[in-house]
Amino acid sequence: MSTSSNSGTGISRKDFIQQFGFGMAGLYSGLLFASPFDAGNRITGLSQDPKRVVVIGAGLAGLSAAMELIRGGHQVTVLEARDRPGGRVSTARDPFPEGIYAEDGAVAFSESYTLANSYIEKYGLQKIPWTFPETPITYVLNGKTLQVAPGEKVEWPFDLTPEEQELGPMGMVNKYIIQTLPQEISDPSNWDKQPLLALDQKSMSEYLKGQGASDGAIELFKNTQWFAALPGETSALTMAVCDFGLFMRGPSFFTLVGGNDTLPRAMAEELGSQINYGHVVKSIDTSSEQVTVTCENGATHTADHVICTLPHKVVRTINFTPDLPAEKTEALEHLPALSLSRAYFGVDQPYWSAHQVSGLAYTDLMTGQVVPHVNMDNPDSDAVLECYVYGEKARDMDTMTGEEITEVLGKAMEEVHPGFAEHYNNNIYVKSWKNDPYALGGPSWAGPGDIEKYLKILQAPVGKVHFAGEYTTILRSTMEGAMRSGAKAAKTVHDAKG
Ligand SMILES: Cc1cc2nc3c(=O)[nH]c(=O)nc-3n(C[C@H](O)[C@H](O)[C@H](O)COP(=O)(O)OP(=O)(O)OC[C@H]3O[C@@H](n4cnc5c(N)ncnc54)[C@H](O)[C@@H]3O)c2cc1C
Repeated sequence: MSTSSNSGTGISRKDFIQQFGFGMAGLYSGLLFASPFDAGNRITGLSQDPKRVVVIGAGLAGLSAAMELIRGGHQVTVLEARDRPGGRVSTARDPFPEGIYAEDGAVAFSESYTLANSYIEKYGLQKIPWTFPETPITYVLNGKTLQVAPGEKVEWPFDLTPEEQELGPMGMVNKYIIQTLPQEISDPSNWDKQPLLALDQKSMSEYLKGQGASDGAIELFKNTQWFAALPGETSALTMAVCDFGLFMRGPSFFTLVGGNDTLPRAMAEELGSQINYGHVVKSIDTSSEQVTVTCENGATHTADHVICTLPHKVVRTINFTPDLPAEKTEALEHLPALSLSRAYFGVDQPYWSAHQVSGLAYTDLMTGQVVPHVNMDNPDSDAVLECYVYGEKARDMDTMTGEEITEVLGKAMEEVHPGFAEHYNNNIYVKSWKNDPYALGGPSWAGPGDIEKYLKILQAPVGKVHFAGEYTTILRSTMEGAMRSGAKAAKTVHDAKG
């Protein structure tokens, strides 16, 4: 299968770069690329005290934990509810015409993802570097439609100050974020200490306003930037660390040839029969020396240690004996998950190219961001228009029926790429992470104060049950964070005495 369109992904950190036309790396003077995974967190050498370990979940956190444990000589069993590895790294192929696939989970890797890249290298996976569309991007914002060619200056339809209009979005990000974040951000060991920790007390909106950003500038970010999906509900610290401290520090961004799920699939292949698919964990009993894990299908597994990498909303559905400590339950309940949903509409051809636009669009309509997917081997054949909807709009979309989604988003799509109704071939595929029983939401999305109040509690083991997964790391909502958390939990098990 060949690749889909060169822009064939969704709103993401990658699109931030895409929209502004260059990597942030060039903006960071002297502080570049300082976020390697601490080698001290990886297992080296075989254990003198090998343990039986059950890893729950075969997403990137679980796979990374299992791979590390095996390197340490431990006996590992992975229990995974789905019939595939990867969890929220998920490449959809079946719903689409021949020659097209699309990510319905994580979109882009950064070169700054040191642990992820070490596995990508190990398996010889090929990267597709991000490329800027040469034809205009469409913006439908505040009732106005703009077709913006690369490098073109336009009047942004928001109430911006004259200086902000002059700076444009990139200039504003530079002025309000990059130039203002504490220098300490370049060193990951500072990420959970002052002065960075002070950022956790502010929402992203408050931070931006504190730097002089107008409401119009924040509104523009909100409708075009992943990191600003919910500016009033996002801890400024997580924006600083995940998006600017880690992702944007990479010199470039990429997807994987054949789909991002080729990484978890390669890891899973190496783990082979140690992964048990279709094993939906229901309960974890820590009341005796051994931990017992029971699945919906009746299978039980006992282990010296368990690494639980379930998404945080799913952890709340597991029956723990004895109960989880109250503070952990509260933290799990309180920590929000970002709503992220997508609808993919089949069309009989990439008809938008006749209007000399790239197909990529940023909108404040229910379509959210629109991403085209084209079979590059046969560019005039059936194509797909993806709506990547996040934040408040995704919350609404998650409550809609299929018919409502088709009607509401289809109508908005007509505004974005006129002619849609004529070309839509009645094929629609919808992915809601909130309605996915094995995710119950998109990635965790810490609000103001959440990191300081809850992160350590979320990370803390309960007896011999260790918790990993993207929500247990300050690098929330990243593949790298998930992998690092798994490796770290494995090291804790490896080092545990007795
Ligand atoms: C739409 C979207 C876009 C994203 N974009 C990016 C991006 O561009 N770049 C980036 O770096 N990150 C991105 N992310 C974040 C990234 O995907 C996650 O941080 C990462 O994949 C989480 O891995 P995990 O192992 O912690 O969780 P998961 O991948 O969710 O793994 C948990 C596993 O547990 C399994 N499971 C659930 N319930 C049970 C049960 N009861 N019993 C057994 N198994 C169970 C699940 O099936 C799953 O396999 C995105 C996420 C989403 C949803």
